[in-house]
Formats: sequence, C-alpha cells, structure tokens
Amino acid sequence: MPLHIQTPYIRSRAASLRLGKDVFLKLDALQPSGSFKLRGIGAVCEARQAAGARRFVSSSSGNAGIAVAYSGRELGVPVLVVVPESSSARARDRIRFEGAELAVHGASWAEANAYAQSVMGANDAFVHPFDDPGLWPGHATMVDEMAATGPKPDAVVVAVGGGGLLCGVLEGLARNGWGDVPVVATETEGADCYARSLQAGRPIELPAITSIATSLGAKRPSSAAVEWATRHSIEPVVVSDAAAVAACLRFLDEHQLLVEPSCGSALAALETASPVLAAASRIAVIVCGGVTATVEALQDFHRREG
Ligand SMILES: *Cc1c(COP(=O)(O)O)cnc(C)c1O
Repeated sequence: MPLHIQTPYIRSRAASLRLGKDVFLKLDALQPSGSFKLRGIGAVCEARQAAGARRFVSSSSGNAGIAVAYSGRELGVPVLVVVPESSSARARDRIRFEGAELAVHGASWAEANAYAQSVMGANDAFVHPFDDPGLWPGHATMVDEMAATGPKPDAVVVAVGGGGLLCGVLEGLARNGWGDVPVVATETEGADCYARSLQAGRPIELPAITSIATSLGAKRPSSAAVEWATRHSIEPVVVSDAAAVAACLRFLDEHQLLVEPSCGSALAALETASPVLAAASRIAVIVCGGVTATVEALQDFHRREG
C-alpha cells in the first residue's frame, strides 16, 4: 500500500463555463499531507526504509518537509526536519504536528541544509524536496490515475518550483501513451527560474526569490526538468502573485478547497493568452495543493495588491 491516496479527477463546471472549454482538475490537494509531494516522497521514504534507513532527514520547511514527516510517522521511522530561522510559525507547527523532530538553524535555507547534512548519521536518509529521480515515478502515479478515470486532455497545466512535479507528470504522460500532450509549466514572477532556464537552454539561477509563492521558491530548476523541453512540448507561463492569489480565492469559492499561491499559478494560467491553451479544448490542471497559506493571508494580500 503506498502512502499517498488516489485523488479525484473531476470536471470543473465553473472553469469550463468561464473558458468555454472542458476543464478537468486533478485534486491532489486532497492528499493526507495536503500536497502532491506525498506521492514521490512517500515512495522514496518507503524505499529508503527498505534499504535500512533508521531516520529520515529533510531541510524543507514547506510541503516537502511535511510530507517527509507524514511518511515517517506512517512508517514508524523517526524524522528530523531542519528549518531556517526565517521559516513561518505555521510551517513549524505543521511539521511538529506530523510528529517530526524540528531543529531551527541558520538564517537561510542553505545554512539549515548545511546543518542537516552535517548531522547525518550512517543510518540516516536525506530526502530531497525535488531533485531526486526517485521522486518521479511516485509523482507520475497522478497521471496513471487520470488515464484510468478520465478523458485524455489536449493540454496539462502544472506548477513548477524545482521541477520534481513537472518531471513526474512528464514521466506519467510518457508511460500512459500521452506523450503527445503539451504541458503548460506555470510559475509566479520572482520565482520564474524555469521560464528563464528554458529561454537560456540551461538551468539559470535566480539571485533571490521575490514571490509569495514560496513552494515555487527553488532558485534554480533541476537540469532534468530543463532537458525535458528538448523532447516534449513545454510552454512556460509566468503569472503575477496577485493573479495567483486571486485564482486561489476564486478556487476556494468555487470548489471549497484552499490551495497555496504556488498551486494558484496553475489555476491563474487558465486566464492567460497561452497559445497551447488557446488551441486546447480539454485542459487538465494539476491542483497540487499546499498547506502553507491561510484564508486570512490570501485575503489580506488580495486587498493590498489585488
Ligand atoms: C513543491 C510544490 C510545488 C513545486 O514542485 P517542484 O517539484 O519543486 O517543482 C508546487 N506547488 C506546491 C504546493 C508544492 O508543494
């Protein structure tokens, strides 16, 4: 039994009417850890336990750290999550809530990560949030479920941070005979390292992340995610933070589910002048979820910037 669950793949009547197209939603916000990350991370944790790991270590204060904490609790393996001082109280609470040991160390993620590496023991397994090929088959299971339960889309819309989710979706499309379905890869302004990398033809590092979509906040995408664009049709779309937040609030209103602005970037991309989406009559959106936003924070941002 995998640690993740099979999630619904539903037609959104609201989005379909608005766009005059068939819009389907893969509702991975419903994973028990609150995001798609449980698919790949759950599978990686199971494999590491089978290989003898006695503890899992993560340096993510976001949905990856929460997914590792969830997986460890379910598997009966202790988890250490090291987060920087800049991490939010909410993120720390969620990690502790899942039963993990939390260590706060360093001013930046790089310092927290260096500390996590320095305390690794012989039987510890480090679980990377996105740059591990072992994550892709797990993430790809969402496309297996889409192919088993719904119609083939003309385009798939998916948010990109470091590119683990994107690589998983592409692997899933390939293994289900959907390799001809173009992918719209979405980011927010200030977290758009993937769009810049596709333009440059190699991974580009951003000097800093300036978007509120913190789950997209890898400064540099994995090279595997950038290489995929040489053999699959991938269109990058970058939206503003304000558009991503507005999309989250509308999604909450229409589908009663709260997702992060990172996921909101995929929902907001539906409203952009994307040539791939303009040519598609059936669109699938990966609703990747995320637990780090609150309704209050989204509404505050929307009132200030929207
Ligand atoms: C991790 C995450 C992403 C980005 O995934 P990558 O594998 O880093 O590209 C997008 N949305 C949410 C909610 C996430 O947790």
